[in-house]
Amino acid sequence: MIKGSCLCGKVTFEISGEPSSLSYCHCSRCRKAAGVFSAVVIGKAEDLHLRSGEEVIGRFKDAELKFERCFCKECGTSLGDLSSGQIYVMAASALDDDPKIRPSLHIHTASKPDWYEIKDDLMKFEGDYIPPAS
Ligand SMILES: [Zn+2]
Ligand SMILES: [Zn+2]
Repeated sequence: MIKGSCLCGKVTFEISGEPSSLSYCHCSRCRKAAGVFSAVVIGKAEDLHLRSGEEVIGRFKDAELKFERCFCKECGTSLGDLSSGQIYVMAASALDDDPKIRPSLHIHTASKPDWYEIKDDLMKFEGDYIPPAS
């Protein structure tokens, strides 16, 4: 189990199984809500278990967007997009344990601000990364 929590500790969660990816997301939602970009762990929805704090999770939903921006209403910690259908997209910054996998890609680079330059050699995708069907 990979444990995680928000800054004030009201929201706690655990991730079972192995996340499928850890990536740097540069979308406008991550930029505004989490800083210049957000490190996100993505995995199967059924592997994410909310242990406490459902009542303090704020959900910002844009009608045009398929994802929900979740955060703790008490402390503002960004939690990612917790209800994205088949997958969870959790802010890696909320993890307390090492998820073991390491960042492998940058996604939504088309939305990053011009003043932020990516200086590593990880794969870059202008939009979403769609993993090849296995
Ligand atoms: Zn909190
Ligand atoms: Zn994003």
